[in-house]
Formats: sequence, structure tokens, C-alpha cells
Amino acid sequence: MAEEFDLEHASTGNMFRQAVSEDSGLGEKVRSWLDAGKLVPDELTARVVGELVLERWQSFILDGFPRTIPQAEMLDGMLREREQSLDAVLYFDLEEETAIERLTGRLVCKECGENYHRLFMPARRCGVCDRCGGELSVRTDSSKEVVRDRLAEYDEKTRPLVPYYERRGLLRRVDASQGPDAVSRETRALLTGLTARQQT
Ligand SMILES: [Zn+2]
Repeated sequence: MAEEFDLEHASTGNMFRQAVSEDSGLGEKVRSWLDAGKLVPDELTARVVGELVLERWQSFILDGFPRTIPQAEMLDGMLREREQSLDAVLYFDLEEETAIERLTGRLVCKECGENYHRLFMPARRCGVCDRCGGELSVRTDSSKEVVRDRLAEYDEKTRPLVPYYERRGLLRRVDASQGPDAVSRETRALLTGLTARQQT
């Protein structure tokens, strides 16, 4: 969709890889955190966003940043310095129950790595890979404990961004309880509205 609307897709993963590949001082710093298997700290992540996205692109979609209020405040500061601003913040709104149902049902084939979902993309024979006949297991990031921990972290650190951006009049809700087609339709309609507004 980023391509369709001529937006640079800036996910934190892509940005870190880009920073490392450019071999700058900034890249060196990012590499040392990644090599140590640690989370890149907020200040460094913000610098990467500033130098690799805000400096280089007029139209972009940030994916995975900001995740916390301190990150959002750093982003605001950098945008102000550059006299830039956000047009919208997309919020994919989903009941916790549904999120748990979706996240815990993910299965992976031990042999070939094919992905399945208990409810939404089941294998033809329960527990057996359609492609290679291998055994299916619960993905390690999909166990109930891991999902609960992630959602608890989301509630504590990321959910406060909803009122933060609502107050600034930037929040656009997408009803994410619908199927993937309806979710893309709604998102596309929002982006169409935003880009039309930009051109007028
Ligand atoms: Zn398989």
C-alpha cells in the first residue's frame, strides 16, 4: 500500500538494516546493540528515524515507531525542528480477546517452515503440513504466555499513544476485527482521503 500511495515505508527493522549497511557512525552504534541482541534505546532509534526518514523523505509511513510516549515526544521535537508534521496516525482497533485468538493460533511446520493458523488458515489434516507432511508446532512467539506478556507491555507502554494522538486530532481508527480484505479497504479509503487533502 505504501508503494500504491507513493510513501516511503519506514519500519524500524528496515531502518536499522539500512543504518548498518551505510556504515556510518550511526550505523556502528545500531550494530553494536543489535549484535548484543538488545533493544535499540529510544534516543538512538529516534536519531535513526530523524536521519534516515525525516531528512530524506517528504512522504513516509512510520511502522513500529513511536511505540511509547517518550518516543512520540522525541518524534514531535524532530518534526518541529524540521517544520514537518504528521497527517494522521492509523489505529488498528482490536478487542484484546480477538488479538489473543489471532496471535495464539499460529502454527509453523517443523520441516519446511510453512505457516498456518488453527482457525483462519488450518492445515487440511490437523497437525500435519499440507506441503511436506511435516509436524506442525505452536510458534515460539505464539504461546499464550508470550502473547499475554506482549499485550501487557502494549497496554502499559503503547496504548497511552491513543489518547496522546486523539488529543492532537490525528488519530484515525480502522476496525481491525474485520477480515483482511475489509481492513485493507478501510485503510485504503483513509489514505486516499489524506493524499487528496494534501494535493488541494
Ligand atoms: Zn512443511
